[in-house]
Amino acid sequence: MPTVKVDVLSAPYQITIEPGIISSAAAMIENLTPAQGGPPTRVCIVTDDNVAPLHLGKLEMSFLLEGIETITAVIPAGEQHKNLSTLSAIYDKFLAAKIERTTPILALGGGVVGDITGFVAATLLRGVPFVQVPTTLLSMVDASVGGKTGVDHAGGKNLIGAFHQPISVLIDPETLKTLPERELRSGLAECIKHEIIRDAEGFSALEKSIDQALALKMPYLTQLIAHNVNIKAKVVMADPFEKGERAHLNLGHTFGHAIEAVSKFSYSHGESIALGMIAASRAAMKLGMLDENSVHRMIKLIAAAGLPTGGMALDVNQVFETMYFDKKVKAGKLRFVLPDRIGHVVIRDDVPNDVVRGALESLRGRG
Ligand code: NAD
Repeated sequence: MPTVKVDVLSAPYQITIEPGIISSAAAMIENLTPAQGGPPTRVCIVTDDNVAPLHLGKLEMSFLLEGIETITAVIPAGEQHKNLSTLSAIYDKFLAAKIERTTPILALGGGVVGDITGFVAATLLRGVPFVQVPTTLLSMVDASVGGKTGVDHAGGKNLIGAFHQPISVLIDPETLKTLPERELRSGLAECIKHEIIRDAEGFSALEKSIDQALALKMPYLTQLIAHNVNIKAKVVMADPFEKGERAHLNLGHTFGHAIEAVSKFSYSHGESIALGMIAASRAAMKLGMLDENSVHRMIKLIAAAGLPTGGMALDVNQVFETMYFDKKVKAGKLRFVLPDRIGHVVIRDDVPNDVVRGALESLRGRG
């Protein structure tokens, strides 16, 4: 079974990727807890109302079979519920159950559940053990690795949060069989992003095998997830608090966040990042940093993942203006992560406005 070790801030933890692992989650967590004073007698689970009917039963059963009680909070699905009132309802439920500082809290779901639950675990009783059980491709390869937790605020996304590393991440690729295809494709955008920022060979391998991911071939998916978790883990270990190179993970985000917001979220996060990566690669080409063949290969792979590569019917001026509201804008300068070859990126804050506009304009074409 593929495992990836993450060692951040002297609190190492393991990410395990194995089809069917949800059903042995209890044993995996019991193995971890000697350090916490013995196996837990109770665990808390947070999930959403889409995931609960599909996967919660297997997880709860694994604990019941070991004689461990479960206290479960089911929250409404969707980014619009990643807020303080959902958080408050979870606190109420777990405090009423008189949980203790050693009671682990598990997040079963996508990035929304993971981010909210991580923040609950970071703050409840000043911090309890946190376990991620991600069920979307995006949360498996990205959100569940790295310890960023939090909720949205009326003023913007992820404005309230904390860094809180999990004690374990259990990834069950089988759960992807119930994921809507559009969500799967969004997750593939993150996989493509990882290859562009760090791994030219991985990019070539994905070019050959992306169909196997879309067809949910378990051996391939397991290996693809492990490979991506590895990339993300290495970046996070080098820069746990996002002071430097972790920003490379924001490839496509300066363009993408604005596209996502102006489209009023009709483009999903992954779709927006896909368009953002294309804009970034075209801007890099315009600046003479990247060759045309690399841009072509990126666009082809993004298209093969079933993600948009053009036809953006948004007002370019509006997207451009919105980019200045990105929280990553430093001293009024837009910062871009730009590829200078497949497998390598650099950060630039000197991209001329006409290059930015030109890259956005190009997204209106056929792709
Ligand atoms: P999500 O959590 O909203 O999940 C997408 C949809 O799929 C939801 O409707 C969910 O109920 C459903 N779902 C989840 N698993 C399912 C399954 N196996 N079968 C059927 N349906 C399933 O979205 P997401 O794309 O997983 O995550 C996006 C969130 O992640 C955003 O809030 C973003 O800010 C956050 N994020 C966090 C980090 C981080 O480092 N913490 C990184 C990237 C993204």
